[in-house]
Amino acid sequence: MKIQNSQLEKFKNLHRKSFKFINLDPLQRGGILSKEARKILDEWADGYSVCDYCGGCLDKIKNPPIEEFVHEILPEFLGTDIARITNGAREGKFLVMHAIAKEGDYVVMDQNAHYSSYIAAERSRLKVKFVPNSGYPEFKINVDDYAKVIDEVKNKTGKFPALVLLTYPDGSYGNLPDAKAAGKICKDYNVPFLLNGAYSVGRMEINASDFNADFIVGSGHKSMAASGPIGVLGAKKIYEEILFRKSERYKIKEIEQLGCTARGLTVITLMASFPHVYERVKHYDEEIRKARYFSEKIGNLGINQLGEKPHNHDLMFFESQKLFEISQKHKQGRFFLYSELKKQGIIGIKPGLTKNFKLSTYALSDEEIKKVIDAFGEIVKLDQLCAK
Ligand SMILES: *Cc1c(COP(=O)(O)O)cnc(C)c1O
Repeated sequence: MKIQNSQLEKFKNLHRKSFKFINLDPLQRGGILSKEARKILDEWADGYSVCDYCGGCLDKIKNPPIEEFVHEILPEFLGTDIARITNGAREGKFLVMHAIAKEGDYVVMDQNAHYSSYIAAERSRLKVKFVPNSGYPEFKINVDDYAKVIDEVKNKTGKFPALVLLTYPDGSYGNLPDAKAAGKICKDYNVPFLLNGAYSVGRMEINASDFNADFIVGSGHKSMAASGPIGVLGAKKIYEEILFRKSERYKIKEIEQLGCTARGLTVITLMASFPHVYERVKHYDEEIRKARYFSEKIGNLGINQLGEKPHNHDLMFFESQKLFEISQKHKQGRFFLYSELKKQGIIGIKPGLTKNFKLSTYALSDEEIKKVIDAFGEIVKLDQLCAK
């Protein structure tokens, strides 16, 4: 054995020093556990902890009440006929693509789509065609362009795309495109429509049937106050047999899920946080108010929000020539912003970024938001200090 004791030592005390900081990372804000979930962590932390009474199907487990959660609560929450637990939003997208499309088929998606949407298509051996965004400064998706791109695929290949995907909102700018209009176009063309709600399901009220979406995916660790990896997938009933077809040999095992998905702590935290999540989505207007307030205040400091304005989501993308200029004079260079914020107890902006970065104000208190704005206020003053 070549692993040294000295190497092993560091694994015996894996603490997370940033735990108490104000964290602005959009990836992390919506995944902070509810107090109800945090309370029961220990009891369910061991591997396969939910399988005490499993008869072979995760979604049929009655104790803990996964069956009721998957088959009653989730479809109601997502606005779909049927639902399942996945290991993440990307696994949900891959499952849908892999199940409904054939090698070489096209998926049409927005240019703001997450990388995992593209990779899910690649893994399913599909081709991708993008609906472009409007470019700087708003980067909006005009969903009417979906019709054009669907036609282009049809003209080129003789076939309609196997799937249309819309990111709602996207993870770069936090833009919320007109999903209803996209759903209408898909209905007119009779092309299945997948709504990627990784940044919406669990943050805001969202109902797939309002958009005529055939499928919707959400991310537990991103937006549903759950330890990951975990996700949710909702679909119309007509797709049940395609998505969840069973193994010939293992009659109760669903093939596209490799038989079973989240089989431990991850699904427990998702369920334990659900009452909290169900309540919080009703108050998303508060989150928009805070995001707009933040955007305005740091806009006054020369840090400008790109993407839709006024903004409708807590994820915001910023541009600042001023912070970039400071980085060119500061002794810590481009790492100055990260380091100055950290001094004030704030993390979550990627180390090294100054000119462009994203952050989220989700679930921060007014007091915390004020603290962050004040921190940026101090940081832009470094402009003078650095001046020679
Ligand atoms: C984060 C993100 C994902 C990936 O979510 P996972 O649950 O980690 O797979 C997918 N799409 C968008 C838009 C995202 O922001």
